[in-house]
Amino acid sequence: MTDSNIIDGKAFAETLRARVGTLAASFEAQAGRKAGLAVVLVGEDPASQVYVRSKGKQTVACGMASFEHKLPADTDEASLLALVEALNADPAVDGILVQLPLPAHLDEQKVIATINPDKDVDGFHVINAGRLAVGQKGFVPCTPLGCLMLLKDRLGNLSGLDAVVIGRSNIVGKPMAQLLLGESCTVTIAHSRTKDLAEVVRRADIVVAAVGRAEMVKGDWIKPGATVIDVGINRVASLDPVAAAEGKTRLVGDVDFASVAPVAGAITPVPGGVGPMTIAVLLRNTLVAAHANAGIALAEGAI
Ligand code: NAD
Repeated sequence: MTDSNIIDGKAFAETLRARVGTLAASFEAQAGRKAGLAVVLVGEDPASQVYVRSKGKQTVACGMASFEHKLPADTDEASLLALVEALNADPAVDGILVQLPLPAHLDEQKVIATINPDKDVDGFHVINAGRLAVGQKGFVPCTPLGCLMLLKDRLGNLSGLDAVVIGRSNIVGKPMAQLLLGESCTVTIAHSRTKDLAEVVRRADIVVAAVGRAEMVKGDWIKPGATVIDVGINRVASLDPVAAAEGKTRLVGDVDFASVAPVAGAITPVPGGVGPMTIAVLLRNTLVAAHANAGIALAEGAI
């Protein structure tokens, strides 16, 4: 393994954000307003607060308008749906993101279904899931779209490659599989009930791990030279026993980097791989939404 085996998602995301920034400035000049992203946060989940702050900061840094709506944890469904409806109707808002997970008393599917699909920059609305499934233009969830960008950047044409996606969530696994199918890969979706997962993964030219189990994918599961995309974000105890005893943690992926990196042709690290792509793609999706909402053409493949 050399450094060139490492797929640098942080650097790719920076380049993508710079492109979004340039296009956001030309959008503003043409539309007479900034592209706008509204983020709704219900409650005080600390991880969600960090994400929302980071989304707001990066939106502004790209020259777009950020509208943050922070609601108390006990917000009732009617108030939340009324806010989403108001954002649907607001011409300054091009993209709407409701930070998940929502407190248990709120129905996530109902809230997502209320978002105007043309402002659904997270790509979670069933209309956008359906568009992806039938190969129509629509919004694609940010994390899998970011993974696809990294794969195409590294491998070029993906046609005919064997891809195994581990995980079948609506947010990552399923849309990832659809995207790879759209690139003419032969796609296998593995999940918690898959028999002999290691053997399935061994066939893959491309492995995307989106499981949520720390360092589950091992080096001897990987076909030599395969490209490995690690979506997992897992917090585990620090390697330093003293720090661990103090409760210090570190982030690891779903892939056991130490054993997989020497076998893989390319691999995303955690942190610094897929993670930084998610917000960059969110900003990209918002810019695409802004152009569509304002009726301003955006050249195919411009972003
Ligand atoms: P999820 O819990 O909704 O889905 C996990 C999937 O893994 C399920 O489909 C399940 O069938 C499968 N699975 C569970 N145990 C398995 C096993 N032993 N063998 C094979 N498959 C198994 O999770 P998710 O929302 O898809 O997220 C997956 C991971 O990706 C998590 O670590 C999450 O934190 C991370 N994530 C990262 C980003 C990012 O920005 N980088 C975004 C979303 C999710």
